[in-house]
Amino acid sequence: MNTVDVVEIFSSIQGEGPHIGERHLFLRLCGCNLRCSFCDTPFEKTEKASVYTNNGTSYLKNPVSADILADEINNFNPINHSYLSITGGEPLIHHKFLKKLIPMVHLPVYLETNGTLYHELEDIINLVSVISSDIKLPSSTGLRAFWDEHKKFLEAANKHNKEIFFKVVVTSQITEDEIQQLHDFSKLSDLIIQPVNSDNNAIKISQDKLFYLMDKIPGARIIPQCHKFLNIM
Ligand code: SF4
Repeated sequence: MNTVDVVEIFSSIQGEGPHIGERHLFLRLCGCNLRCSFCDTPFEKTEKASVYTNNGTSYLKNPVSADILADEINNFNPINHSYLSITGGEPLIHHKFLKKLIPMVHLPVYLETNGTLYHELEDIINLVSVISSDIKLPSSTGLRAFWDEHKKFLEAANKHNKEIFFKVVVTSQITEDEIQQLHDFSKLSDLIIQPVNSDNNAIKISQDKLFYLMDKIPGARIIPQCHKFLNIM
């Protein structure tokens, strides 16, 4: 695979998980293997990719080659950015392309993934520094559970001594079975609970429910998706 469809490249502040507050350069790729009911991420294929810089917005014609994409990424100042955050959609559907791209970029890679494509992760894991993985709950996604996939994902990262943590968007519809599964998972990995936001960025779960979750899943931390409060990309 020599080219990829890109949505956008932009510099911003990491708004989720333990790396919150760091400046990252974001590369958003098209396409996803899932269709979560709450998804508000633009990942559909477009004719042009947007590159947002201090000097304005420029465009790349899709699909983009690895050489051209690496040049665009390397044009950003690496001193200003802790990581190249590769996101989507689901970036691992492009694992063959990423194998070509990542060795050409000048920043360490922070992979943002839905944590289901563990074979594809194995293919590029040596090229990745940090793995930020979702846990997908049926009560929030409207999809089936992916516990086996998430566990295999964790095993792959641990086998290669990679930094990995799991984030889970939680709604007030979370079930007792899901809470038990999260409790079990929190014994294996760092787990961050992200309470779902409303359109005006208010947390949609009561304080009582959040405390209940913390009592039931003692190892977990509650960190909202802060880029939404900061009103940044
Ligand atoms: S995995 Fe992420 S990008 Fe894909 S549909 Fe779900 S929320 Fe959207």
